[in-house]
Amino acid sequence: MTTVIQAKNLDLTYQTNDGPVDALKGVDLDINKGDFVSFIGPSGCGKTTFLRAIADLEQPTGGTLTVNGMTPEQARQSRAYGYVFQAAGLYPWRTIGGNIRLPLEIMGYPKSDMAKRVEEVLELVHLDGFEKKFPWQLSGGMQQRASIARALAFDADILLMDEPFGALDEIVRDHLNEQLLELWARTNKTIGFVTHSIPEAVYLSTKIVVMSPRPGRITDVIESPLPRERPLDIRDTPEFLEIAHRVREGLREGHAYDD
Ligand code: ADP
Ligand code: MG
Repeated sequence: MTTVIQAKNLDLTYQTNDGPVDALKGVDLDINKGDFVSFIGPSGCGKTTFLRAIADLEQPTGGTLTVNGMTPEQARQSRAYGYVFQAAGLYPWRTIGGNIRLPLEIMGYPKSDMAKRVEEVLELVHLDGFEKKFPWQLSGGMQQRASIARALAFDADILLMDEPFGALDEIVRDHLNEQLLELWARTNKTIGFVTHSIPEAVYLSTKIVVMSPRPGRITDVIESPLPRERPLDIRDTPEFLEIAHRVREGLREGHAYDD
């Protein structure tokens, strides 16, 4: 098994006007190739910070972090990952195709390959034929799929997703969860996924990382016994409910109820 992301005793402390904030403290984690890893925990437990550290958008203040055996900076330069933000963040003056092409244009991707690549990623997120539409012509769920397509543009092996479906209603979210699993199965990517939702974490993940705040740390890592192929109604099985229960217990233990 290949380790793609490895954190060892990782610390990340922000210096603020109110003093230091320990966003991550002593985080140890191995993410293997092809894993679907969810990070779940209350607001402020360091989920976004951890994803941003992997993406070289924040600098750890202690411990080590490697991505594909490299430093996060080297991994970023080799375009090791795509990143999906909480808000779709599509440019309204660009078409869907134009938004997906943007990172490719910035990196000087060969023009001749661009159209084909845009077509491929649109197909992966089931937005075939929407290339010439503008973001406002798409529903919230479709916009979020377009932003996933954009993150897939370089065909990086790692996909980092920060609460990508948090703002969507439950029916749409169910549908996107199913599609994301299908995309993961088809592309064999390694996915790091932040969520607030226990059912979403359990439904999607091969590994669930439960986190707790002040300082931000990992309190439980659950290796899911569920098969990789998962119809939505797997959520009614005893196996599923048992994992959900363990996640809930982990969240409860990590929570001080002082706020
Ligand atoms: P989560 O994504 O789990 O809600 P974050 O990683 O955003 O948590 O934040 C973890 C902690 O670090 C919080 O206490 C938050 O206020 C603090 N924090 C996050 N980003 C910054 C920053 N740029 N400067 C100072 N403090 C920050
Ligand atoms: Mg966050």
